[in-house]
Amino acid sequence: MSPPSRIRAHKATGQLELEWPGSPAVAVPFRHVREHCPCASCIDENTGERILDPRTIPAGIEPTDMSFTGNYALKIVWSDGHSTGLYTWDLLAELARDACQPKE
Ligand SMILES: [Zn+2]
Repeated sequence: MSPPSRIRAHKATGQLELEWPGSPAVAVPFRHVREHCPCASCIDENTGERILDPRTIPAGIEPTDMSFTGNYALKIVWSDGHSTGLYTWDLLAELARDACQPKE
């Protein structure tokens, strides 16, 4: 997966805007991104099971800082102080796909 051509945190709408070359922009709610943090304290490295309880995520969660790690991932520092998750381009693409699924 190639890096997104555009990553923007829209704090007014609470969404992370992602865009890849040749594709329309996709907005993923911050909460959804936070819930899918891939770090070892949110996901069990051996079983892939989620350790993070989504109920512990504060309402109004938002990124306070974002930076690139190498050329393979986005590091997000969250307003709840969590900053160990590295969101690879593959993971961001997966979250963007989730956001595109029709709501039931
Ligand atoms: Zn995490």
